[in-house]
Amino acid sequence: MSRRSGRMKRVFSRLFKERQIYHRSDGVVHFISMSAQTQIAFAVVALGALLWVAYASVNVVFKEQIIVAKERERLVMQTNLSKRLNEAKAAYDDIAYLNFTYKRQFDETMDDIWARHRVLTNMVDRKSSINQKLDLQAEGLSAAGGPNGQKPVNGNRVMIDVAPGEATPRQSRVSILRKEAADEARLRRERSQENGNAGESIESMEEAAADLFSEQVLLMATVEEKTSRKIEELRQVINSTGIDPDAIITPAKISNITLAQGGPFIEPGTAASYPTRYYRHANRAAAAVDELEALQAALKHLPLSSPLTVTRRMTSGFGVRRDPINGKHASHHGVDFAASWASPVTATAAGTVKFAGTRAGFGRVVEIDHGNGFVTRYAHMNRIKVRRGQTVELHDQVGELGNSGRSTGPHVHYEVHYKKRPLNPRRFIEAGRYVFES
Ligand SMILES: [Zn+2]
Repeated sequence: MSRRSGRMKRVFSRLFKERQIYHRSDGVVHFISMSAQTQIAFAVVALGALLWVAYASVNVVFKEQIIVAKERERLVMQTNLSKRLNEAKAAYDDIAYLNFTYKRQFDETMDDIWARHRVLTNMVDRKSSINQKLDLQAEGLSAAGGPNGQKPVNGNRVMIDVAPGEATPRQSRVSILRKEAADEARLRRERSQENGNAGESIESMEEAAADLFSEQVLLMATVEEKTSRKIEELRQVINSTGIDPDAIITPAKISNITLAQGGPFIEPGTAASYPTRYYRHANRAAAAVDELEALQAALKHLPLSSPLTVTRRMTSGFGVRRDPINGKHASHHGVDFAASWASPVTATAAGTVKFAGTRAGFGRVVEIDHGNGFVTRYAHMNRIKVRRGQTVELHDQVGELGNSGRSTGPHVHYEVHYKKRPLNPRRFIEAGRYVFES
């Protein structure tokens, strides 16, 4: 170490040994003495200046290239960045598109559900308003009861007596449909569990929509079935009077429900898609409700009650019998009811008084036009309580029971005419007992 530093010292002292610089001016010689330190200081300054010049030159020469390189780097970065941004934007657009698509599908599904709900509600409302009217009619009829005042009987059970051909009630279609719907829902859940990937909320929404659609199909099928059953009952009631129901109902309007196209989310089912099934039931239910309404309206014209609501006894039936006065066989175009003197004789259905006065043989008589070709006659009365042209409701009093005309004792002779042909009133009164809430 000491040997090496000694050599360095020697090199330094040889390089920077004390020097004198001489110079002459005006014949005088001057000299400047320069110590080693001073020489070193000068050398350092000179070297620094030299380095600075070199750096500056290099900088000037390469500046352009540096700028170009930096610019290139910047461009690359910018390109990368915009590429990333574009990718992000594309991803965002995808999400936005999906969101938009699903939102639209969701909205359409909701619209669909509401549209069908409105159809359903409308149908149920119409049906229950018709049923209310029928109940009112039945209530009115039940007050009078059968020919001898028997209580009304609950429809369904007695219907079998009325129409023996229909002895066994058919199996409910709705219960079959309900089972099918449960199976479908189970399959749907199994399938979605198998898929089990992204979009769980969307899937559960689809499931909920499918459940709703399925429920709506069931409800509509129920409306259709219940209405059809009621129609059948009413037709049997009318049939039992001897009148063809089709002859007295005004052709049904047949409300047509527009078959909407399939909603989103719903894959076509195994048999038919929900909208198809729903609107098939809806159209049949609408036709049924129309028919029920026509039957209910026709029922208003039918004289289904007894002319006496008080305690009475049917003393003579319809058809050929021995004339009680001259003993000869004669046609009896009505039925006779005996009750206490001056009992109120009442209208057997709503209508307009067609005749109120005296007719040969009938004594004091009232005839009521019920429309649809139905006319009823109340004879042998003591007093008449209505005028011609007056409108009457079911069970409005038309007169007092009496013994006027060809009569052997106080009774009311009662006739039912359909298109000017006498029919057996007893069948109408019996039928009235079946028009009852079921
Ligand atoms: Zn009679």
